[in-house]
Amino acid sequence: MRRSLVIGNWKMNGSLDSTSEILRAIETTIDDKITCDIGVCVPFVYITAAQEITKPTVITIGAQTVSEYQPGAYTGEVSAHMLEDVGCSWVLIGHSERRTLFNEANAQLVKKVLAAQMTGVTPVYCVGETQEEYKSGATFDVIKDQVEALLNNSAVDLTQLVLAYEPVWAIGTGLTASPEEAQKVHAFIRALVSERDINAANMLRILYGGSVKPDNALSLFGQKDIDGGLIGGASLDAKAFVSICQKA
Ligand code: PEP
Repeated sequence: MRRSLVIGNWKMNGSLDSTSEILRAIETTIDDKITCDIGVCVPFVYITAAQEITKPTVITIGAQTVSEYQPGAYTGEVSAHMLEDVGCSWVLIGHSERRTLFNEANAQLVKKVLAAQMTGVTPVYCVGETQEEYKSGATFDVIKDQVEALLNNSAVDLTQLVLAYEPVWAIGTGLTASPEEAQKVHAFIRALVSERDINAANMLRILYGGSVKPDNALSLFGQKDIDGGLIGGASLDAKAFVSICQKA
């Protein structure tokens, strides 16, 4: 019922040359056995180049953050309208690096989700607990807080949204939540969403992120409530990324 989705997050990596090299390599390796939707979130400055290289029927392009403001006097910011203008399909919102390094908190992130939803760009709202929170058994409380910040705002459109569960301790560390552990959190998120809208909850794609690699993707994506992945490091390696997509 839910079509799988795999999104690469290149973070602040790459160059004009490597953008075209990696995207061309991904496109030429993809075959018709792949049935999931595929997105790649590149740095702002490479979005147009990425669009020119890829066929939107094969790879859709996204950004890694967006301003919560409407166009105007906000030096250095990039608006959702601009992302739409250059053809972005996705924008990551609330990635843990934005939350921790740039102090983006739930209230601001909800505004970003709303800004994206005013355009045709689909927000990918990321949630996840830190290692400390995980160890102290606070995972479900943290996830509840982050998800409810979104659900409590009635203007948020649950049908133009993707969620991503990314335990912070698993991002870029080589550690992953076990498939069973991740499934429990995904089921919990879906249950929270279903309290507001059961149909939207059933349709909502919830991605898992945190050191997904070709050798652990199958067991993670095989879980009932895991609808694909948000892939960091491995998305910069075309072969590994396509291999992950094949498992979704
Ligand atoms: C990420 O940055 O969203 C991520 C999941 O990174 P990695 O796959 O490298 O852990």
